[in-house]
Amino acid sequence: MNAADVIITEVGPRDGLQNTKSFMPTAAKQAWISAEAAAGVHAIEVCSFVPAKLIPQFVDAEEVLAYANAIPGLTPVVLVPNFRGCERALAAGARRVTVPISVSEAHSMSNVRKTTAQAIEDFARMAGLVRAQAKGRRAQLVGACSTAFGCSLQGVVAEDDVVRVAVALRQAGADAISLADTVGYANPGQVKRLFQKVRKAIGEDFDIEAHFHDTRGLGLANALAAYEVGVRNFDSTLGGLGGCPWAPGASGNVVTEDLAFMFESMGVNTGIDIGKLIEVRKTAFAALPDAELYGHISKAGLPEGYQPLVRAA
Ligand code: ZN
Repeated sequence: MNAADVIITEVGPRDGLQNTKSFMPTAAKQAWISAEAAAGVHAIEVCSFVPAKLIPQFVDAEEVLAYANAIPGLTPVVLVPNFRGCERALAAGARRVTVPISVSEAHSMSNVRKTTAQAIEDFARMAGLVRAQAKGRRAQLVGACSTAFGCSLQGVVAEDDVVRVAVALRQAGADAISLADTVGYANPGQVKRLFQKVRKAIGEDFDIEAHFHDTRGLGLANALAAYEVGVRNFDSTLGGLGGCPWAPGASGNVVTEDLAFMFESMGVNTGIDIGKLIEVRKTAFAALPDAELYGHISKAGLPEGYQPLVRAA
């Protein structure tokens, strides 16, 4: 694996697929994951351990995770909504687990029927499960502060609330924290300010990751702003897959291939072969004819004279 300057985690098989109408067959999910890993994407969020009766798309979570776990050099990530999901994920061999905690009380109640404080208590119990795992085989636990930049139910989310939740998650046992712009409200000034505030409160040595949506066209600008204040881990989805269920027609996540192009063209190594990634985009969604895709570099192509970064083999 190349030592990359930034780590881009592809979250399409989870964040993208949770909002698509049709079911992507298990084999198609697996083909997508392995093709994207072969293009140099070394972290992929592959599924969610949410009850299949709530989101049937993830009925095959165990099978997809087992497949991804067998791909050399890949760090598969899974999302869990609650304690039961965490138990299932760990039993299935999850190595990196993202737990979304809504900073917005309204979003938390509507999503998991818990207050934010109750969700943090649940997170602490999950951390206990992880700590009980054999040393050397312990999963990493990522506390994702969702609606950190605003909420479609509550409106403004106070920055002090985000800081408080992030600190609480670290104290509860998180290995990393993510700030998520769940509904695409963030702007670059806010991104810089909030990441700096959280970093100051949580400690310089601690990993803080970014999860942006491109709902209002500011996804890449927000990613660059976060990079400029030291963030080195970013989530995105191939083709920007993943609209918002509350905003029909709104575009989805930051587009992986555009994000990789932005960094690579700046000389920031992502480890990703953009040409190969564009090829993956052409094949991955054959099984999802109704999926809405976004992005620029896949349409316009790489600029004439573009030189990929030289990387150590
Ligand atoms: Zn998201």
